[in-house]
Amino acid sequence: MLYVSTRDKQQIGMSFKDAVLTGLARDGGLLLPAEIPQVNDRLDEWSSLTYSDLAYEIMRLYAPDIPSAALRSIIEKSYGAFRHDEVTPVVEVGPLSVLELFHGPTLAFKDVALQFLGNLFEFLLDQSESEMNIVVATSGDTGSAAIYGVRGRERIRIFVMHPNGKISPVQERQMTSVLDANVFNIGLTGTFDDCQNIVKALFNDLEFRDRYKLGAVNSINWARVLAQIVYYFYAAFRVMDNSGADKVRFTVPTGNFGDIFAGYMARRMGLPIDKLILASNENDILTRFFNSGEYITGEVVQTLSPSMDIQVASNFERYLYYLSGEKAGCVCGWMEDFSKNGRLSIADFNPDGIFAASSGNTAATLATISRYWHDYAYLLDPHSAVGVEVASAFLSEQAPMIALATAHPAKFDDAIRQATGEDIAHHVVIDALEDMPARKEILPAESTAVAEFIRRRIEAG
Ligand SMILES: *Cc1c(COP(=O)(O)O)cnc(C)c1O
Repeated sequence: MLYVSTRDKQQIGMSFKDAVLTGLARDGGLLLPAEIPQVNDRLDEWSSLTYSDLAYEIMRLYAPDIPSAALRSIIEKSYGAFRHDEVTPVVEVGPLSVLELFHGPTLAFKDVALQFLGNLFEFLLDQSESEMNIVVATSGDTGSAAIYGVRGRERIRIFVMHPNGKISPVQERQMTSVLDANVFNIGLTGTFDDCQNIVKALFNDLEFRDRYKLGAVNSINWARVLAQIVYYFYAAFRVMDNSGADKVRFTVPTGNFGDIFAGYMARRMGLPIDKLILASNENDILTRFFNSGEYITGEVVQTLSPSMDIQVASNFERYLYYLSGEKAGCVCGWMEDFSKNGRLSIADFNPDGIFAASSGNTAATLATISRYWHDYAYLLDPHSAVGVEVASAFLSEQAPMIALATAHPAKFDDAIRQATGEDIAHHVVIDALEDMPARKEILPAESTAVAEFIRRRIEAG
C-alpha cells in the first residue's frame, strides 16, 4: 500500500509512515492511497466486531508498515480514552439514528482522529528517536482536540495559536487549562486568518521548519481521514442489523470536507452507503458546488456552528482527484484556476449519485434543536442540528438515515439557550473547567514574534 499526491503526474509512491509524517505533499497536493482496498467479502465477518477490533482490521489494510502489535496498542490506547464502551455509539432518535462521535476527551468528533494521530506520532518518533514540534492554528475545536492528543508526551511539543478573545470562553478554557509542560497556548492579537498565515509562514521558512522539526496535525493528514473511516462501518453495521435494511444513508455536518470524505472512502471500499448528505450552514461553498459544478469562494459568515464556518474546504481536493478519474494533471489545472481566480468550474459536471447537498440556516438550526428537544428529549449541538435539518428532505424507507453528531451540546451552551430558552446543556468536563487554573501567552500577530517564542521554548528544553 503506497500513497500518492493528488498533484503528482508521475504518481511516485510513499509509505504510510512517510505519508503521516509529511502531511501535505511537497508539490502542495494531498496524499491518497494508490489503490482502495475492496472489502465486500469481509463485511459479514466484520459486522459483529468491537470498535477497536474493527478499527484494527480497517487500518491494517492502509498501514502495512506499522507492526500489528504496535497498531493494536495504538488503537487500544486511543479509544480507551473515550467515555463510552462502544466509543461511537448509535442511538435511535425519532426518524433517525444518531451516531454520537463526541465521547472523546474534548467532546468533539475531532478526538476520534487526533487521539489516534497523537499515539501514532509517539510510536513513529520513538522508533526514529526523534522529536516533533507541532504548530497549529485554531478557531475553536481543533486546538483542544490536538492538545489532548499529545499532552504529556516526551518527544512532542505543541504550539497552538488562537485569535485572542475571539473564540468562545469554553473553547479557550478547554485549551488553556491544560498545563502539561509540552503544551503552549498562544493568544494572538489578531484574527484566525492571521493565525493561519503565521503557521504558513513558519512552514514556508524551510530552514526554520527543518531545524525545529515542525509537524502538522491539520485535517489534511491522511491518518485523520483513516481514523474516521472506521465509524462509518461501525454505525452502518449497527443500523443495518437493527433495521434489516441492506443499505444506509449518512448526513454529515461539513466544513473542511474531512469527515464526509471518510464516508466516501468507506463507500468506495464496498460499504453499502446509498447516499452521503453534505450539510452546510450559511457558508455553503460545497453545497453550491454539488448543485452546480462551480466551486467559488466568498466571505466567511459567522454562525452558531463555527467549526463549519469555512470558505475553502481543505480536503476537497481529494474528491476532485477521484472526480477527475485520478488524473493529477487535471487536479493541478483546477487548483491553479482556483488559486488565481477564487473559482473553479467543472465542465459537464456529473457528480457521483452518492452525494446530495443542501444548507440549513441559523433559524432552521435553532428550530431543529428545539424540536428534537421537545419531541424526543434529545439535545443536538448546533453542528449536528444542521445535518439533521438538511437530512429531513432525504429520508427513505429503504435506507435508514444515520446523522453524525459531531459535538456534545455542552460545548455550545449559548446556542442551546437560544434554541430552547433553557440552561440545559451541561457536561461535567465542561462545568469543571470553570475553576481550573489556565495558562497562555499573548503575542502580537507577527510571525517573527511567534518564531522567537517557539525557538526559546524549544531551546529551553
Ligand atoms: C470540525 C467539525 C466539523 C466539520 O468537519 P469537517 O471534517 O471539517 O468537514 C463539524 N462539526 C464539528 C463539531 C467540528 O468540530
